[in-house]
Amino acid sequence: MLTPGLTFNEKGHLSVEGCDATELAAKYGTPLYVMNESLIRNNCRRYTAFIKDNFKNGSFPCYASKALSCLEIYRIMAEEQMGVDVVSGGELYTALTAEFPANRIFFHGNNKTPDELKMAVECGVGRIIVDNLTELHLLDEIAAEAGVIQKIGLRIKPGIEAHTHDYIRTGQIDSKFGFSIENGEALEAVKEAFECENLELCQLHCHIGSQIFDTQPFTDAAKVMLQFFDVIHKETGKWITELNLGGGLGASYTDSDSPLEIEEYLTPVAEAIKSTCEELGVPEPEFHIEPGRSIVGEAGTTLYTLGNIKEIKDIRTYISVDGGMSDNIRYALYQAEYTVLNASKAQGNVVDNITIAGKCCESGDLIQEGVSLIDPQVGDILAVLTTGAYNYSMASNYNRILRPAMIMVKDGNSRVIIQRESYNDLLNNDI
Ligand SMILES: *Cc1c(COP(=O)(O)O)cnc(C)c1O
Repeated sequence: MLTPGLTFNEKGHLSVEGCDATELAAKYGTPLYVMNESLIRNNCRRYTAFIKDNFKNGSFPCYASKALSCLEIYRIMAEEQMGVDVVSGGELYTALTAEFPANRIFFHGNNKTPDELKMAVECGVGRIIVDNLTELHLLDEIAAEAGVIQKIGLRIKPGIEAHTHDYIRTGQIDSKFGFSIENGEALEAVKEAFECENLELCQLHCHIGSQIFDTQPFTDAAKVMLQFFDVIHKETGKWITELNLGGGLGASYTDSDSPLEIEEYLTPVAEAIKSTCEELGVPEPEFHIEPGRSIVGEAGTTLYTLGNIKEIKDIRTYISVDGGMSDNIRYALYQAEYTVLNASKAQGNVVDNITIAGKCCESGDLIQEGVSLIDPQVGDILAVLTTGAYNYSMASNYNRILRPAMIMVKDGNSRVIIQRESYNDLLNNDI
């Protein structure tokens, strides 16, 4: 299975949006992150159009920029009328440098530092999603000093946790993020937030997991959150006006993944919100979600050069590539599955049971196991699909390996959006 925009051309080479992968590798070097701009923009448009048509005025999706953060991605998100969510001063700084409008930035995190909170208040971020009471009171003081009323949300644990194929409805009190509804701390936090003179609580936020293929955890979360809106109104006489369901829609990594289409996932959510609001008499809130993986995941392909082949008879074949956990740590971290292809060949003998190894000095530095490749030979270009999310953003200089370049392709053209690091870059902060 190929991700959208990928085909094999008449030369038998993988092509990304009309660009021959072997030519891209020759031109820009490997490892190389290749991003499909049309797919990113199209995913954004599907989210924004659906939300504009089906949710209350003022609703918009925020791209979760931890999935992939760099100047160009924030420029694209601004052009596509998205909001963004950031989780650190570094992401915020990058977004602001790209001139992303501050009032459409939501700032998350379970331990934002005083400096980060100050920076966020001073630049005028749209919402700060408060995680704990220490942060709430610190932020109240920071807003007072800055002489502003800061709009905030609260991070809520709705008691629903979902991952890929299954989800559970209880036992989520044990999470480092946010306030639990179940044990009463969420209601206490809401009451304290309403008391803060320099803060305006408008949003409740939850994020129930990632790589989710089912719509029910989202509709259940929406209902639990709206029931809590109603409880808050009964207890305080005030309405929360914004519901944020976080991210989580899955992407396709292998043939066994079949994520919902964006519209398929949002339709039941819109219906659940409307019907629950009617049933409970809750005024329909503005709606936000924070998709990361489902916007950039399938838009990314990593190209490597095959360096050597080690056949261990009757055991397996190792194929080493010129990158590894330094540019894609997800297999080493949690055995994440990926599709690996020989981008140099569309036909030939298939070799099975291949382990794709990186070049880092760690036995666990693997990109994937159990891979089948067409006639792999030294010098071939290998492609790993669906690497747009949580690859570059998790990359490191382990072993002082240089982080790869990232290029954007569109309609047969390519351009660099992140330069390959140089040896000199490695010394930037060394004294
Ligand atoms: C990780 C995260 C997201 C994005 O999740 P995806 O699975 O990539 O869509 C959104 N919001 C918050 C608060 C997150 O922590």
